[in-house]
Amino acid sequence: MGLQGDTTGEWFRRAQQVLVSGVSSGFRYWGDDDTLVIDRGEGAHVYDMDGARYIDYQLGFGPVILGHAQPEVVAAVAEACAAGTTFAMTNAREVMAAEKVQAAVGYVDRLRFTNTGTEATMHAVRLARGYTGRELVVKFEGCYHGVHDYVLFSTASASPHHLGSRRSPVPLQASSGIPAAIRDTIRTVPYNDLDAMERLFRSNPGRIAAILAEPMMGNCFGIMPEPGFLEGLRRICDEHGSLLIFDEVKTGFRIAFGGAQQVFGVTPDLGTFAKSMGNGFPVAAIGGRREIMEAWARGGVSQAGTYSGNGVAVAAAAATLDLLATGEPHARIERTGRALMEGIAGICADAGVAAHLLGHPSMFGLFFADEPPHDFRDTPNHDADLYEAVVQGMIRRGVMPVDDGLEPWFVSAAHSEEDVATTLTAFEEALAAALA
Ligand code: PMP
Repeated sequence: MGLQGDTTGEWFRRAQQVLVSGVSSGFRYWGDDDTLVIDRGEGAHVYDMDGARYIDYQLGFGPVILGHAQPEVVAAVAEACAAGTTFAMTNAREVMAAEKVQAAVGYVDRLRFTNTGTEATMHAVRLARGYTGRELVVKFEGCYHGVHDYVLFSTASASPHHLGSRRSPVPLQASSGIPAAIRDTIRTVPYNDLDAMERLFRSNPGRIAAILAEPMMGNCFGIMPEPGFLEGLRRICDEHGSLLIFDEVKTGFRIAFGGAQQVFGVTPDLGTFAKSMGNGFPVAAIGGRREIMEAWARGGVSQAGTYSGNGVAVAAAAATLDLLATGEPHARIERTGRALMEGIAGICADAGVAAHLLGHPSMFGLFFADEPPHDFRDTPNHDADLYEAVVQGMIRRGVMPVDDGLEPWFVSAAHSEEDVATTLTAFEEALAAALA
């Protein structure tokens, strides 16, 4: 039996008549019987078309850090809408939102807004290439940077068994339709493997424009950088005149107000931001060192976008950042996330199930295996069947993480202690049922 109630099922079949597979983004398709159609979100909860309520740990794949339909953000957006939203000129709200990003993230001297994380990483990669005059970009196996051709290699949807040797990793194209020539512009390396990175730089002197890194693996169980890893990337980039780009689309404004630099103490040259910056409204940005960012001003490197910095996006960002700047939401999220991680770890230990809680309280992963993973190559050790059975059982009990363990559980400031208690009970029951 699938997850859809009668009305949700009817809506999904209707959706399939217009949207390909009934969805607007490939990751949202969970199969014909399990893909839900959502009526509304409120705080930490979402409701499907049958009125079934779920405690939401997907949060739209991360953005909704303050909870769905957060009143101050909604009010700010409504006010911006009434003032007109799209101009072929800078608007004052855009300036104010940019000031807040600059104030929050230590390494952002200058920025420009875009609308999606994909656009942000696309521009960051081009900017790095334009600035350095080099072509190669290095990314990590199991990291995701959006859906454009330049980064869609060795993402977590690839098979970890087909990545070649550690000494000579094979960049695996994650989609048909990417021109063969693009593959020559990308190199892939296992996460947390500085030796592999050193070897790659030694064998490509003067050719690498940038390392593009998720500062923790936000698309692969929340695997964390090991001590010294991000520092090592910084040092290698400095030694070779390459740029270090942190893709903070998931970590930005989430793991801390100042993002990865605040948590890990390593400063990249450029950062890309989206998701938690706008609490679910489509807003993103590329920011970083002035000297690099101003390659756009000096000419020759192109950046543009009709909707970049539009009134809705920047009003949402400004209101979200004002609330996050108080520190209160992050304190709550940290407490809630810790309670969930500790609770889940305790339940697994009591049940005799080997489990590792990975990542950060604001976005954490659950890995069912004896040993914790260090990189994407370790992930086949995870008991994915058990994980899926547990999550399916939780969803039936009204608690909704993503059913695929690669995607972290996202925590919002709207999750309550009662939500945590309900979640842990559902987890305990679903685990017991899955083991029975
Ligand atoms: N970078 C990272 C780290 C992401 O997790 C994502 C989306 N999950 C993106 C980029 C792409 O963002 P968008 O879906 O807004 O294009």
